[in-house]
Amino acid sequence: RFDVLVVGGGPAGATAAVYAARKGIRTGVAAERFGGQVLDTMAIENFISVPYTEGPKLAAALEQHVREYEVEILNLQKAVKLVPGADIIEVEFANGASLRSKTVILATGARWRQMNVPGEDTYRNKGVAYCPHCDGPLFKGKRVAVIGGGNSGVEAAIDLAGIVAHVTLIEFDSALRADDVLQRKLKSLPNVTILTSAKTTEVLGDGQKVSGLVYENRTTGDSVKVELEGIFVQIGLLPNTEWLKGVVELSPRGEIVVDAHGQTSVPGVFAAGDCTTVPYKQIVIALGEGAKASLSAFDHLIRSSAP
Ligand code: FAD
Repeated sequence: RFDVLVVGGGPAGATAAVYAARKGIRTGVAAERFGGQVLDTMAIENFISVPYTEGPKLAAALEQHVREYEVEILNLQKAVKLVPGADIIEVEFANGASLRSKTVILATGARWRQMNVPGEDTYRNKGVAYCPHCDGPLFKGKRVAVIGGGNSGVEAAIDLAGIVAHVTLIEFDSALRADDVLQRKLKSLPNVTILTSAKTTEVLGDGQKVSGLVYENRTTGDSVKVELEGIFVQIGLLPNTEWLKGVVELSPRGEIVVDAHGQTSVPGVFAAGDCTTVPYKQIVIALGEGAKASLSAFDHLIRSSAP
């Protein structure tokens, strides 16, 4: 039985575990894949105080830091059910096992929705990107496309237009869905082309990196090739919270609703990182939120009556 059980082993979960263990309380981390999204990342240039690192290196460092402490790490464990209780919360796993803890910190992160077109997988991190805050500067002076005309796509296009040479925004529907104020801003920019009713069908590359894309003009049915160096896919970020539906309050986007302390709607259950309503999904933010949720869990423990 744990005092703090962290579900998720990305930046938020690893930090929560270290903070809990440093309080000398019984801490466990169960993760489907220790390291989280960082494992899928190459260059990281905004982990402040470390000007450059790479995902797998940072993931290994996260795990090493957790292993400095007495933390029980259960890797390759997928949580499928959360059972709240007055003093003890239970987490059930896909393999049938279950763990009991006085507090639980949910840090299951999120995943970017993909286009699922040929070339996307091949050129991920080789021109296909998902995070403009992370990878925008890598495309300085180059030509990029942003896929998706919702708020995140249009925000990304505005952001990138200030860094890159040219942005082509590609929206499947006949109109952009972003807020008017964002659309007006986008349309005022000289180096942006907006394509609507356009379905991206293929990512093109030279074997090493992206060299363009093909889209179908949904009005004429024509296939059109665009030459460019980068593609930012902005068609949604899906929180890994499907298993919490009906148990913990989720936002309409499926994010775990947390207050300023990382407290969820269930007493004793806290959450941190990309799986929550906290805006801007970034490593440094997930780290800070993990620390906060862990300190809140500790605060909860010292105030609760359970021995
Ligand atoms: P995650 O990293 O998503 O970790 C979630 C953890 O929960 C994983 O261990 C996962 O296996 C586990 N998990 C999920 N579901 C379950 C379950 N049901 N049961 C058990 N465990 C579960 N951010 C930056 O700041 N800089 C960058 O340069 C940068 N580049 C990026 C590049 C790419 C390609 C991607 C995909 C993301 C990038 N990000 C970057 C974003 C950054 O990776 C995330 O903001 C950060 O990893 C979020 O941390 P997290 O701990 O909340 O979630």
